[in-house]
Amino acid sequence: MIQIKNNEQLAMMRQAGRITGEAILKAREYIKEGISTKEIDTVIHDYIVKCGAKPSFLGYGGFPGSACISINEEVIHGIPKKSRILHEGDIVKIDVGAYYNGFHGDSANTFGVGKISNDAQALIDATRESVYRGVALAKHGNRVGDIGSSIFDYATSRGYGVVKKYVGHGVGHELHEDPEIPNFGTAGRGQRLFTGMTIAIEPMINAGTHEVRVLGDNWTVVTADGSLSAHYEHTVAITDGEPVLLTEVK
Ligand code: MG
Ligand code: MG
Repeated sequence: MIQIKNNEQLAMMRQAGRITGEAILKAREYIKEGISTKEIDTVIHDYIVKCGAKPSFLGYGGFPGSACISINEEVIHGIPKKSRILHEGDIVKIDVGAYYNGFHGDSANTFGVGKISNDAQALIDATRESVYRGVALAKHGNRVGDIGSSIFDYATSRGYGVVKKYVGHGVGHELHEDPEIPNFGTAGRGQRLFTGMTIAIEPMINAGTHEVRVLGDNWTVVTADGSLSAHYEHTVAITDGEPVLLTEVK
């Protein structure tokens, strides 16, 4: 069931979203060669707790970290580890949720470690562009398929694979609410969007095939062909006017 938020609830979601976005910016300061994904996770955990919030992912389905940190061919759900060290040229995806005043924010970003290849930068840029193309269509009266088809068409026109097995979602009191927000679809089709909905739009774009598989740790999702993957995610409120990005911090 779709949970509609009133203005008071949206104001609280704004706070959860701000903390989420700030935690990612904080993490960015620490991304450099030689740091472990566990150290980055600790930075995120401590920032969220300092804000009086809770890391949404910690313990979710048994997940052991406060953030999902995924490197290179890892798409999503990477587990932070002391033994996992960033190297020059890696691309790292940081996916964070913060729970504050009864509501979640959910956001992800992809960063390069030191100097990265032109191909890696192009993939990151296209994934960032695709999330904003989706966000621009998160308007009252549009449909879920408008968002998905826009993301899909943009990414595939550049030769990238768009992950279909994992999708965006409603977000609010629960981390994952209805409806699903796929990164594919048909314009004009699917669930209608209306004022008061809050959704996480999160394209996962691969340099190669769209196919993915899950590693033996039962969490880490990787590209089936070992190609690079990028991920951007924003929590967005649908209003009478323009979409409101709840997790964007500048
Ligand atoms: Mg997320
Ligand atoms: Mg999400």
